[in-house]
Amino acid sequence: MLRGNIQALPAIMLGTMLFAGGVTAGDLFQPLVIGGQTVKWFPREDGRVVLTFAIARDDMTFEGAINCARIRSPRALLEKSAIDGVRFRQALSAAFGTWERAANVSFVEIEDPHKAQIVVGAQVETEGYAFSNVVPGARISNGFREISRAQVCLNPLRKWKLGFGGDLSIYDLKYTLTHEIGHAIGLDHPTGRGHLMSFRYSEKLDGLSGGDRAGAEYVYGARLQTRQTRDERDRAAANTHAMAN
Ligand SMILES: [Zn+2]
Repeated sequence: MLRGNIQALPAIMLGTMLFAGGVTAGDLFQPLVIGGQTVKWFPREDGRVVLTFAIARDDMTFEGAINCARIRSPRALLEKSAIDGVRFRQALSAAFGTWERAANVSFVEIEDPHKAQIVVGAQVETEGYAFSNVVPGARISNGFREISRAQVCLNPLRKWKLGFGGDLSIYDLKYTLTHEIGHAIGLDHPTGRGHLMSFRYSEKLDGLSGGDRAGAEYVYGARLQTRQTRDERDRAAANTHAMAN
């Protein structure tokens, strides 16, 4: 149970705010801070945060990127681990869906990686297991700086798997992608263990912890069920109208 309303508190309080049982917010989740400021994707005019993503095809270079400066299609990475491209796509969409269900943020896959806000691919210069790169934009609102672009990159020299198998040297793609997407939407590593956003890879948790969900809600607010229902009604009405014409 939470003590007080976390969303009403400025981010600077996070490290010291006490949860029931003496756990601090920083143990549960940590907003990503770039240049001294928490960052998030800004909502559209209708209040919803809807982000486009695509899988890299050709080599892409991101000037000035700290991580994932050059990424390419994950084809060779998948072949090396004998993972089918369709199943990779399913894992990626499950990873985005995990965050989508947790807070007011949605993702739409598009074909052209050059037009996508989040690009997912394999590293060209290989390092570690996986990284994400978050590019801040110019706008600032309610204490957050906007995120303008993000990349998620996987090391193609590592072996990857789908699902857990107990061998912690081979990472599950869905878990890893969900973790990196967590960074791409503005979450950092909490100090506590046992969360999907915790630094260390683990197979104890299939999905988000309460802390991960609290982090997503802190940044984007609770999932807006009523608003979506209204949007869906509007769309249905527009379709009916289109058909009537
Ligand atoms: Zn991480």
